[in-house]
Amino acid sequence: MRKQPTSGGLVYSTDSGRTCPACRQAQADCRCKALAAAATRAAGDGIARVTREKQGRGGKTVTVVRGLPLAAEALADLGKRLRNACGAGGTAKDGVLEVQGDHADRVVALLLAEGHKAKRAGG
Ligand SMILES: [Zn+2]
Repeated sequence: MRKQPTSGGLVYSTDSGRTCPACRQAQADCRCKALAAAATRAAGDGIARVTREKQGRGGKTVTVVRGLPLAAEALADLGKRLRNACGAGGTAKDGVLEVQGDHADRVVALLLAEGHKAKRAGG
């Protein structure tokens, strides 16, 4: 149990005592709002775009998902599920999911099944 100064000490504002209901960090340390704001910026209109792209000099096809309105951890978890479902490797980085190989149709179906808005875009 911590002793609170009763006089002459620092007076804490009510804000500093509050914790975030989402992450249970003190509001001052909470990154939820920043993450949500970043996710919103990355999300654009909230519809994830699934594209098929060639990667690197080898020209391997990779399925790329952009614009998912998710924070980094949720995005990484979703990326794992997508890779497992496709039986392929991939990455989750900077708000972008990649799944090795051409799985665009499958990825769109999986995203829709999880309640995300998603559509094919580009090639
Ligand atoms: Zn928080």
